[in-house]
Amino acid sequence: MKVLKFGGSSVGSSETIKQVVDIIRTTRVDGPCSVVLSAMQGTTDSLIEAGRSAERGDDGYIEILSNIGERHVTTIRELFNDGDRFAISDFVETTVKELENLCEGVRLIRELSSKTLDRILSFGEIVASKIVSAKLAADGIENEWKDSRLLIRTDSTHGFATVDFVETNKRIKDHFVASSAGVHIFPGFISSDSAGYTTTLGRGGSDYTAAIIAAAIDADVLEIWTDVSGMMSADPRFVRNVRQISNITYREAMELSHFGAKVIYPPTIQPVMAKGIPILVKNTFEPENHGTLIESESAAKTEMIRGITSIDKITVLSLEGSGMVGIPGFSKRLFDALSRASINVILITQSSSEHSICVAIEDKHANEAKQAVDREFEYEIAVGRIDPLGVENGFSILALVGHNMKEHTGVSGK
Ligand code: ADP
Ligand code: ASP
Ligand code: MG
Repeated sequence: MKVLKFGGSSVGSSETIKQVVDIIRTTRVDGPCSVVLSAMQGTTDSLIEAGRSAERGDDGYIEILSNIGERHVTTIRELFNDGDRFAISDFVETTVKELENLCEGVRLIRELSSKTLDRILSFGEIVASKIVSAKLAADGIENEWKDSRLLIRTDSTHGFATVDFVETNKRIKDHFVASSAGVHIFPGFISSDSAGYTTTLGRGGSDYTAAIIAAAIDADVLEIWTDVSGMMSADPRFVRNVRQISNITYREAMELSHFGAKVIYPPTIQPVMAKGIPILVKNTFEPENHGTLIESESAAKTEMIRGITSIDKITVLSLEGSGMVGIPGFSKRLFDALSRASINVILITQSSSEHSICVAIEDKHANEAKQAVDREFEYEIAVGRIDPLGVENGFSILALVGHNMKEHTGVSGK
């Protein structure tokens, strides 16, 4: 079975949804398939904005939600005949009402917990996937919609939940054994914890949903359908003369995505890589383009550098001091302190003198990091063995990625 994931731009309007339906129709001819859908482009950002506005105590959320509702209703009007429209329109209206009630609750208590935010965000993926499912049915393509929250079990880290793969794989397999559908439709991004509360898999997480499903059912291929014709040698938003990468290894693709190639959400690659399932990145708006094939051994091995990526809004933390030299345990304590504060470390360097350790984190965590680390080393700082944590922000990380780089000298010099 193939697993196809369509991103926000692919379901961004009635026109693009028609293209998605065409791609599913063509795929279905060769056998059953599973389809994972994101929210309509921009919806998740708008839902966050609605929640934040309610939290501030203003009623701006009413207009934001009304715009979200209007956009979905217009899309439905453009997609369906009068006769086919009723159930799905009704669903969208009821959903927007429910969202309004949720936001009204947030406004009254002036508090938006990450748990409530996840619940609010879930509507984007649910509604978009329901619309696609209804459109397929109206076009005579039988399909079954299933709420991914009943399949993907996570911990309760709202906003960035960790998947319980044992339970999740079991549920997904059971679902596919019980269902005889030819086309399976799932909302991406959303999951639930053991108490049944909605959780989400991190921004861009619909890619991950598709990978989790593909790995659980040993799919033949995972297809990521987006608005570019595959992975490019650099970010097309910043670089004009980018090249399309035809073949790339899992590890190279993982590096590129980890260091900023937004086209694939970084956690996506691991589950399919473990099963040896190839990933094909394809363009919904240019389906005939071959796209990028990600697999274990890449055909095109000659290039030294496969791609260049960057991430900005980076803070560099430096822990320095003469008291660190030769004394074991400093790095452990540094990383423990960051980990307890739930701060993700993106890059690490240590000088050979052991006099300093530098780590790169996201700018938004800079203050928390400073507090956590200075607290951890309070005693050492007080007696002058190490300096208070150095914090410099506004950096970028530039990454050159390529499996063959290790065979060549002078790459970084060049
Ligand atoms: P979707 O909504 O389909 O998930 P995303 O916006 O998450 O799509 O990812 C696709 C976007 O990723 C592209 O439009 C492109 O601007 C951006 N991007 C950044 N780096 C790269 C890269 N190296 N190759 C391809 N696309 C990239
Ligand atoms: N809609 C979610 C987001 O914008 C998930 C996704 O698009 O993959 O982050
Ligand atoms: Mg994406």
